[in-house]
Amino acid sequence: MKLLFLGTGSAKCKKIPEDQIPEGARRCSSMLIDGTVQLDVPIHTYDFLEKRGINPASVTDIFLTHSHDDHFWKETLLRYAKAGGRKLNFYCNAGALSCLGLTEEEMSLINIVTVEAMQTFEAAGMTVTALPSNHIAGKEEQTLHYVFEKNGKKLFYGLDGGWLTGKEWGYLYKTAKPIDGAIFDTTCGEQPGNFRIGTHNTIPMVRLLVDAFKENGVIKENGKLISSHIGPHIHAVPAEETARILAEFGVIMAYDGFEIEI
Ligand SMILES: [Zn+2]
Ligand SMILES: [Zn+2]
Repeated sequence: MKLLFLGTGSAKCKKIPEDQIPEGARRCSSMLIDGTVQLDVPIHTYDFLEKRGINPASVTDIFLTHSHDDHFWKETLLRYAKAGGRKLNFYCNAGALSCLGLTEEEMSLINIVTVEAMQTFEAAGMTVTALPSNHIAGKEEQTLHYVFEKNGKKLFYGLDGGWLTGKEWGYLYKTAKPIDGAIFDTTCGEQPGNFRIGTHNTIPMVRLLVDAFKENGVIKENGKLISSHIGPHIHAVPAEETARILAEFGVIMAYDGFEIEI
């Protein structure tokens, strides 16, 4: 699986047009798998793809983790829907739908597939399992993480969410392992007491998760560990310092435009 990070920042990222994004800034978090499958649909992704010479019409499937506005931007979704040549598949939790502000007419442009936590299904040439993440969004919404399996490779996408829920750890530990790549929420920096602890990770939390992944064989020995959804204003240290701390325990800090194959 070829991964391209379209954004690696947290909710505080500026929701302004792509051409006004400051150099080196992080856009809201999103990622592309093999050029066709996108994780979340924040404001900048469509223009960012075009900027990189990728036709957004090549995106056939979008998986939503949750309805927060740094992960879902209706106007951007509709641009993908109207990009032509195919009907866009859009996967989300049923409880998220009412939070997205889509009219019936807009919904008719998209093939909407609702998924529940712990559901495994076939989509976009992959076997996909939706997992219940430890995060809070809409009133009726179950926020989701995903495990994607394709051509013998497995990827865990864990944005957003502080720590793991028991059910998702159980799935990773008993069913999914060993996985080839894991992407962790790393919103907060070296701040063990940060108030976001219930819904986002600090670096010390990521360190413990990585230890557990390694010790229990959840991640392969040469598996890729990647951090994203980074809040620079919370990390309170320069990006190079955050990258150095994460690298100490084998985690790569992603950046906008970062590409990696797992
Ligand atoms: Zn977020
Ligand atoms: Zn969120």
